[in-house]
Amino acid sequence: MEPAARRSAKNSVDREAFRDMCRKFAQVEMGSRWQAADRESKFPMELYHAAAKAGLIGLHAPESLGGAELGVTEEAIAVEEYAKVNPNFAIMPVIQGVAGGLLWDFGNEGHHQLARANNAGECLLAIAVTEPEAGSDVQSIKTTAKREGDEWVLDGIKAFITLGGDCDVLMVLARTDPTKGRHGMHFFAVDRRTPGVQTSQIKTYANRPMPTYRVSFNGARVPESRRLEAGFGAIMAGFNRERVMVCARWLGHMQTALAWALDYAKVRQQFGKPIGANQSIAFQLAQGHVDVEASRLYTYHAASRWDSGAPIQDIILDVSSAKLFVTQAVYRVTQSALHIGGGWGITEELPVMRMALDALVAPVTVGAYEIQLRVIAKQLGLPCD
Ligand SMILES: Cc1cc2nc3c(=O)[nH]c(=O)nc-3n(C[C@H](O)[C@H](O)[C@H](O)COP(=O)(O)OP(=O)(O)OC[C@H]3O[C@@H](n4cnc5c(N)ncnc54)[C@H](O)[C@@H]3O)c2cc1C
Repeated sequence: MEPAARRSAKNSVDREAFRDMCRKFAQVEMGSRWQAADRESKFPMELYHAAAKAGLIGLHAPESLGGAELGVTEEAIAVEEYAKVNPNFAIMPVIQGVAGGLLWDFGNEGHHQLARANNAGECLLAIAVTEPEAGSDVQSIKTTAKREGDEWVLDGIKAFITLGGDCDVLMVLARTDPTKGRHGMHFFAVDRRTPGVQTSQIKTYANRPMPTYRVSFNGARVPESRRLEAGFGAIMAGFNRERVMVCARWLGHMQTALAWALDYAKVRQQFGKPIGANQSIAFQLAQGHVDVEASRLYTYHAASRWDSGAPIQDIILDVSSAKLFVTQAVYRVTQSALHIGGGWGITEELPVMRMALDALVAPVTVGAYEIQLRVIAKQLGLPCD
């Protein structure tokens, strides 16, 4: 029913000039907004509008739908630069790309209109897959969609939906035929303001500029025209691409944390010398440098494998290995930075506790740590369930 979402880049750019442009965008548009967003756990909608105006939403979307039709490598460059300023905002354009990809690749003309609006900054999207009882095990979702004439009636609860209460349209995965397991699921593009859709924020300690929501559907009626020919397989392919962006996100973040820790270790004096003159501190920073460089290699290797046009089946091992390594590396680097900050590190006077808290999200989203190990073990031919 659903071909795996696979889009080759049509256009190319001067990558260094593009990196520079993304860096400036992040410094101006994200740098000025993240602290208030973090304090209030509130997404600033102007950031989405600014990103669309700068042509940074839909980087890999078809040109015919207002996208730039660039490759995974270019998107990773953008995300890395955003994340150096703020790792949470960095994921906003990525979510738009994954949700938008469902509309471009599996949608009808009505869906394409939504995609055009999304790329133009007029229709913020969210992805609603996870449920309170179905996190890593997406196949066990319970939300149902029952056909009644030209409409579908949605019932169920989704959890952890980033921007779920801020978006215009939710891309909702629901069971359309409970007898067919993962093959009996479809995505629906649901207007958030539809009667029967309710959202409530889930308060978190980390990732606060990009709030997550519980979204409930109680007899929400959605026209058949909003159903997509996309289900479980399509989102798994989308997640595979998103994992490369997750690597770029944490690669950017760990560089900022390492740079901060290096400066601090050179400047902070105890026992008459910089704390970085002690081997136990210096070695943590040396390890951090290796973590950054290895993460860079892993991230851009996975991105280039995507851009090579190889079948998804052939790149899963590279993508999951990269995701596993980089999300552990960012944990090591930010924990070292926090440690090097000493008592001051856990105060609001230094930025490092916030960095460490945000990095705690890294191994969880888009396939948790053990899920990546499971994928890798299977790719190695092990009979791992
Ligand atoms: C900040 C944030 C944003 C998110 N945004 C979205 C979003 O926009 N849309 C969306 O749909 N979802 C979103 N999610 C949900 C995210 O994808 C899930 O949290 C993730 O899939 C894990 O599910 P869970 O939290 O229910 O953990 P669980 O699946 O309950 O896992 C708990 C622990 O058990 C481990 N585990 C699970 N199964 C196995 C196994 N077979 N073997 C060994 N260990 C196992 C996991 O690795 C984990 O450590 C978000 C989550 C967070 C935290």
